[in-house]
Amino acid sequence: MSDNSEKIELMKELIKKIDLYNYHYYTLDDPIVSDKEYDEIYYKLVDLENETGVVLPNSPTQRVGGDILDKFVKRKHEHRLYSLMKVRSFPDLEKWTNEMRQFDKNADFALEYKFDGLQLVLEYQNGQFQSATTRGNGEIGEDVTMQVRTISSVPLHIPYKEKLLVQGEGMMTKRALEIYNRTAEIPLKNTRNGVAGAIRNLDPKETAKRKLDFFCYSIIYCEKKFKTQEEMHEFLKENGFNVGDYFKICKCLDELIKNIEEVGKIKKDLQVDIDGMVIKLNQVAPREEIGYTNKFPKWARAYKFEAEEVSTMLEDVIWQVGRSGKVSPVAVLEPVELAGATISRATLNNIDDIRKKNVYLKSRVFIRRSNEVIPEVLGLAEKYDFSKEIEEPKICPCCGEALVKKGPLVFCKNHDGCKEQIVARLTHFASRDAFDIVGLSEKTINQFYEDLGLRHFSDFYSLTKEKLVGLEKFQDKKAENTISSIEKSKHIEFARFLYGLGISEVGIKTAKDLAKTFKTLDGLKNASFEEILQVEDVGEIIAQNIVDFFRDENNLNEISRLLAVGVTPKHEDNQKSNKFEGLTFVLTGTLPNMTRQEMTKLIEEHGGKTSSSVSKNTSYVVAGEEAGSKLDKARALGVPILTEEEILKMI
Ligand code: NAD
Repeated sequence: MSDNSEKIELMKELIKKIDLYNYHYYTLDDPIVSDKEYDEIYYKLVDLENETGVVLPNSPTQRVGGDILDKFVKRKHEHRLYSLMKVRSFPDLEKWTNEMRQFDKNADFALEYKFDGLQLVLEYQNGQFQSATTRGNGEIGEDVTMQVRTISSVPLHIPYKEKLLVQGEGMMTKRALEIYNRTAEIPLKNTRNGVAGAIRNLDPKETAKRKLDFFCYSIIYCEKKFKTQEEMHEFLKENGFNVGDYFKICKCLDELIKNIEEVGKIKKDLQVDIDGMVIKLNQVAPREEIGYTNKFPKWARAYKFEAEEVSTMLEDVIWQVGRSGKVSPVAVLEPVELAGATISRATLNNIDDIRKKNVYLKSRVFIRRSNEVIPEVLGLAEKYDFSKEIEEPKICPCCGEALVKKGPLVFCKNHDGCKEQIVARLTHFASRDAFDIVGLSEKTINQFYEDLGLRHFSDFYSLTKEKLVGLEKFQDKKAENTISSIEKSKHIEFARFLYGLGISEVGIKTAKDLAKTFKTLDGLKNASFEEILQVEDVGEIIAQNIVDFFRDENNLNEISRLLAVGVTPKHEDNQKSNKFEGLTFVLTGTLPNMTRQEMTKLIEEHGGKTSSSVSKNTSYVVAGEEAGSKLDKARALGVPILTEEEILKMI
């Protein structure tokens, strides 16, 4: 008894918290915790309700959504709207599919994206768009007709002439978010807040600015009757609704799991944010009998993917000096688990970005981990009394030199005296795609800086075995290997040489394109800004960086010293054919006879390019043994897959 009353007290506390989070999320479109944290608390409440058998009045587990904004005209929904019950695991999904089979032994399942946007109901009469309403609390929503009218993928006229109510999600694509944020005074944290804030806004002109989309997934009312979800989907398509490019009918649990897992792997690369998959009983007839809870239809389930966003404390900001002297802020976070990794650092671009994102020292911030890139601070979750403004440093945190401001960035100009930038430069020079000097980590280079006085690129070439032996962890063999690798690096491809110089924003791909165009160092040194601009993918900023680099005395001296010690950059024009001109290949797995470097070289010799990630623009994926997620993604996107033998045959 006392145990239950303790649990009930806890439930009351959780409800209070959830109500507060709901208010920020649904009413203000400005959440203060991530979905991951919200879901944890929500399920704690669900579990306690199950354990105790008590559901407190007004429990959020029995209600849809949150309060609606007074500033809008309210509209009562003709048909009540629901949320979706989540399955928390595949065994849960299995249990549910078995239940569905009891209503229809031939049941199959429609699998759809779970769009993470703002649910809308659109009404059509006589083939004309009439109104749009938000889900609100499921019974009453907000009239957002004027705002939704500005969304170009909402058809204003449709061929079907009877009354029609459809349901779908207002969405902002990742591209639209990026474009909007480029010039926004206050950047949007994510696409969901972007779309909700844009539609639940009284000025339709503001809505139009955010270039929204509408993805339609259900019919709520239609005179015409449908036997399956698939038929509904077809009908929506025929009437000009954007239904997205994913819809699958799965016959069994294994098929559902396989497809869900496949989408899980590629979802980061989709233009729309999805937070899971929706599984609906395809057959419509048994749905009424199966029925609804207060909050969910029992004939559908949502499977949520692992969250990519979480909130944590911003404990400190350290300013790091890069190889170009740029001093950039890095967020030091209270360690937090996210998508299978512990995150304790995240990028913050510069002081303007910090101000725009409105984040403070000792404030709670949202972070996101997308793709392989380092996690990024998205914006403020909560500010406290003890939170403090983040200050941009005036002097270099490494060498103490006064910093120079250039737009939103700060630079340390102590090119030859700032240890952090020198070590970063030397590490880049020795890296694999540049001079490829084996066994030189940043830590080793630090040691060379301290103990051997290494300062310039050319200093590598005056190192001797005797100098290295005696350094910590340098025995005979290692010293010998390092020296021979340094010697070998003197004969270097022009593109690698260029990349190794560390010209700001010149990556290995640009270096290759520059080498192909200008062929020699003198050719590039003497090229004009306009000539450099002609090179593929080189914009004005990169062209200017290159021109500036070759005007700088320090850089010219460094290059002269390198040439003097015998470094000979050479462009080998080894193009054998243009069979692969315009084609992009992605390599994955272990090939039977060739290394990946050899295959890359071969592709380039025939005019093709390689890329590290699969997208719709990939022409072919070359796959070997133990190919992983890139192969799955190629299959999901329909990119043709080649074996080593097949590509050799093509050549
Ligand atoms: P939901 O995530 O439970 O999912 C239901 C919604 O999915 C539907 O209402 C619909 O809008 C949408 N949907 C997308 N694609 C669909 C499709 N193909 N078919 C049918 N519906 C589709 O939504 P909810 O009930 O609004 O919210 C609960 C979730 O919202 C929580 O799990 C949490 O992640 C998040 N939330 C977060 C906070 C926060 O503070 N971070 C607060 C409240 C809610």
